[in-house]
Order: sequence, then structure tokens, then C-alpha cells
Amino acid sequence: MTHTPKSLLLYGGTFDPIHNGHLIVARTVAEKLAIGKTILIVSANPPHKLNEPVTNAIHRMAMTHLAVENDPLFDVSDCELHRDGPSYTLETVRYFQNKYGPETKLYWLIGADSIADLPGWYEIKDLCDECQIVTAARPGYDTTQLGGLEKILTPERLLAFKDHILETPLLEIAATDIRRRVNARLPISHLTPLPVINYITKHELYTE
Ligand code: ATP
Repeated sequence: MTHTPKSLLLYGGTFDPIHNGHLIVARTVAEKLAIGKTILIVSANPPHKLNEPVTNAIHRMAMTHLAVENDPLFDVSDCELHRDGPSYTLETVRYFQNKYGPETKLYWLIGADSIADLPGWYEIKDLCDECQIVTAARPGYDTTQLGGLEKILTPERLLAFKDHILETPLLEIAATDIRRRVNARLPISHLTPLPVINYITKHELYTE
């Protein structure tokens, strides 16, 4: 029988590759909200990155597993890899609600850079009804600019959204920068865990 957690932090990403920014922010948020389990969900086909080449999901899954191996806070899910078409967050949230049942409260973690995209997310109103979006700070992104969400959400939902914009460490780490540094043969040991670096080297990822 599936254990029923009180709450779960769902964290979707391209994770190309996963990095310390993801890991530190997720841990901080889980601790602040007293959530015992964070599920890293590797996105198959990010709707907002359809025109950008993304590394094969097998590699991104492998690196994500390696980054959190033996860490009881984290699980890794490939649920979005089994669906055709773009990975809609709402479908993923419903999948987990269905899996764990109505007693489990679901939180969906995003970085502040994603706030501006939210109004364009698939069925954003339903998403805000069916889970609590939690926003982590990200350097260079203003969390007071809600990018049109004010017009879309009910006052209650908007308040809940604002209440879940959390103060988290500001980390200047981005997967784009890691890929660029690998290609330029620059060190990345301060940006992502060693097993991920070893995997990148072994599979010659991010080199043109
Ligand atoms: P890329 O540089 O390829 O766009 P990324 O570093 O933004 O990648 P993603 O896998 O696209 O990583 O991000 C998944 C989620 O994590 C997004 O919601 C993003 O906002 C958030 N995120 C990524 N890096 C950070 C960071 N340094 N601080 C806070 N949130 C972050």
C-alpha cells in the first residue's frame, strides 16, 4: 500500500543538468514548510522550451538520480516521461493526487523566473485550485511583479500565492551556465554534485 504523506513538495524541471541551485532551494522550502518529501520530476518535453534542444531524458533522469542518491528528502519521478506531448503540470499534479489520495496536500515549487510564465501555463486557475504553488527567490527576478496573475486568480488564490513566495538563498546558478562552462572546459565543481560531474564527463555531455 502507498504510504500517505501529509504533504509533498513537487519540483518539476528540465534538470539539464540538475544543480546545487535546485537542491538548496528545494531543501530550504521543504524545511520552511515542514514537508518530509520532495519529488523531483524530470520534464520530458517542457512546453516553454519546445524550440530549444534538450538533452535526452535518459541522461537527465540519470543525473537527477545521482544528485540525490541516498538522500531521504528526495525521490525522483519519471511520470512525465511516459506521457505523449507537452508536460502539463496540472496533469502531473492530478497524477500524484490520485496516487497518494485526497489526504495529501500538494505543493508545486517554481523559481521566481517562472512567475512571468504562469499566466500562460495550461489551465493555471485549476492548477492553483488543485495544488499550492510555492515560489523560491532567484537572483534578478522581482517577486512583486506577478505578470498578470492578479487578473486571472481569485483574491483568495492570489493571497495564497503571495503567501507562498518564500525567502530562499539567492543562488546564481543556472543549467545554461553549467552547459556553457562544460563546453568551455571550465570547472563546475561548485555548481553541481560530483556524481553529476562524473556522469557529464563520462557521457561527454554539453560539448559541441
Ligand atoms: P536553464 O538554465 O536550462 O533554463 P534552469 O537552471 O533554470 O535551466 P530548470 O530545470 O529549467 O533549471 O528549472 C526548474 C525549476 O527550478 C524552475 O522553476 C526554475 O525557476 C527553478 N530554478 C532553477 N535554478 C534556480 C535557482 N538558482 N534558484 C531558484 N530557482 C531555480
